[in-house]
Amino acid sequence: ELDQPIALGVAQVRKTRQGVVAWGDHRVTVGGGAPVRVQAMTNTDTADAIGTAIQVKELALAGSELVRITVNNDEAAKAVPYIREQLDRMGVTVPLIGDFHYNGHRLLSDHPACAEALSKYRINPGNVGRGDKGDRQFGQMVELAAKYDKAIRIGVNWGSLDQDLLARLMDQNAQRARPWEARQVMYEALITSALESAAKAEEIGLNGNNIMLSCKVSNVQDLVAVYQALAQRCDHALHLGLTEAGMGTKGAVASAAALSVLLQQGIGDTIRVSLTPQPGESRTQEVLIALEILQALGLRAFVPSVTACPGCGRTTSTTFQELAKQIDDYLRGSMPQWRERYPGVENLKVAVMGCIVNGPGESKHADLGISLPGTGEAPSAPVYIDGEKAMTLRGDAIAHDFQQIVENYIEK
Ligand code: SF4
Repeated sequence: ELDQPIALGVAQVRKTRQGVVAWGDHRVTVGGGAPVRVQAMTNTDTADAIGTAIQVKELALAGSELVRITVNNDEAAKAVPYIREQLDRMGVTVPLIGDFHYNGHRLLSDHPACAEALSKYRINPGNVGRGDKGDRQFGQMVELAAKYDKAIRIGVNWGSLDQDLLARLMDQNAQRARPWEARQVMYEALITSALESAAKAEEIGLNGNNIMLSCKVSNVQDLVAVYQALAQRCDHALHLGLTEAGMGTKGAVASAAALSVLLQQGIGDTIRVSLTPQPGESRTQEVLIALEILQALGLRAFVPSVTACPGCGRTTSTTFQELAKQIDDYLRGSMPQWRERYPGVENLKVAVMGCIVNGPGESKHADLGISLPGTGEAPSAPVYIDGEKAMTLRGDAIAHDFQQIVENYIEK
């Protein structure tokens, strides 16, 4: 006889320190029990301040709680305070993260208004330490973060890994009686780079709560292996992302696969879906996928969800697909107005099913559900509200009537 019930949801949530990424009074907590945050990145030339401000606004409206912009040269650094000003004027309070490589120390020192306008600095330890001043460059960025009271992310990426560190670990590996595989040395190099940099940043005086880490790779199994190990070896909040995930369905699915495995283990405090947009495709797609991943895992809710069956040979017409789409569009489209008016509406669950095989069952699990008549069934559609059969719809206006029922339910 079994005496242990099956576990509910995420087995354990990793305990981390809690950091804050803030712009004015708008404080986004990260880690330490805060909801997993969604982050996105612009692909505009940051020197184009207006174009960048517009895209930041689009990403924020789509649901990105933190937006990263590249700051790669003096023109970009000069544009940052202006971008911030434009966003403030539009009432967009989303904190901005500056993405720095190679020259971040110089740009932040030379452009104090940029250093002020950003809420967090992304530092790549694989390339900031290089140059005439050696490691001092990393220290300079950390000192500026401490001075302006900003968070940092130490963002290691296997595409720009510290080559000296990798060479050191390869040499050590060669001395082992049983050398590790090259990939395992690479994992260790990614993690060591992040941890050594974080320790250095704390030593310099930055509040450790505001040091977030990432070790991004572009392969799902590698990402899972690296983050599982990293999560065990520190208590910093972690930013997750499958870097260079790719285009379209492949990028979306690979990101969802990698992030879901880790999130289910309680690993990950901010996420980004790094999609390559198709020509003409909106950048907001990456935000929508990130939101869907969190909602599908039950970690957060952003919009009411519609459960719909795929349909099969028992489906007599396309009415049920049309109704499912209509209800989904209606619920999603109404969220901007509903979010404040109906707190909690994002948790609503509606089922639109093609026949009575699974229809009544799914409908009972939802707040509202309908089963449309399938092949051989009476031309009627039972409707369930809060798990109970409430009525049966008939006739040509079933779709319209059901939408009305949904509207009344939300209103009530
Ligand atoms: Fe087919 Fe009915 Fe199942 Fe939908 S609920 S997939 S119509 S059997």
